[in-house]
Amino acid sequence: MIPDFEAVRHEMVERQLLRRGIRSQRVLDAMAQIPREEFVPPDSRLLAYADEPAGIGYRQTISQPYMTALMAELLELEGRETVLEVGTGSGYAAAVLGMLARRVITVELIPGLAALARENLARTGRGLNVTVICADGSLGYPPEAPYPAISVAAAAPEVPHTVFDQLDDPGRLVIPVGERDDQELRVVTKRDGQIETRVATLCRFVPLRGGEGWR
Ligand code: SAH
Repeated sequence: MIPDFEAVRHEMVERQLLRRGIRSQRVLDAMAQIPREEFVPPDSRLLAYADEPAGIGYRQTISQPYMTALMAELLELEGRETVLEVGTGSGYAAAVLGMLARRVITVELIPGLAALARENLARTGRGLNVTVICADGSLGYPPEAPYPAISVAAAAPEVPHTVFDQLDDPGRLVIPVGERDDQELRVVTKRDGQIETRVATLCRFVPLRGGEGWR
């Protein structure tokens, strides 16, 4: 039997997001619309809205729904921005960000995942303002820099300075930083040349690899 994914999705928004304090109506609406079941492998669709990360192959995961919502909320998008995402995975967060911003450029290191994300985004009609680039995103994506909002969806030992340099002023960067197995989700803001960093929560992401990631 095929479950009523829309009902399950709304229950996820209510229980996992609203109750835990996600307040942005735009983020809640986006999470209520993007079909997460289309971004997980066919045999795990029944678990697409579970309160945990979901495997997507290649030993990678997409984040727990709450984490995707929190990161999107922390970016404080208004709808006019071009957002850089590092770590596309299967494209779920990119689809959410695409509803909140004018345009998303998302960079994925693993070619098979970049291709899968393009397919998922196209099939769900979410590919129009999302560009998937297959490259080392620990170096950001220079051709379209600077970005007013950057979301890094893999954990780094430190904020990669190349990525940081591609943040506009004003701009906001959300990134998990720390050890391999546990990190803090940092929000770095740049305004009038002033840099501020705060920790939003503790978290656990797959490692950022590449030039400025883990070796
Ligand atoms: N944005 C996703 C989560 C992605 S998981 C979501 O929808 O929840 C993290 C991804 O980062 C993995 O697909 C991994 O392959 C990718 N990654 C790791 N290091 C990277 C790098 N240096 N550049 C680009 N992508 C990288």
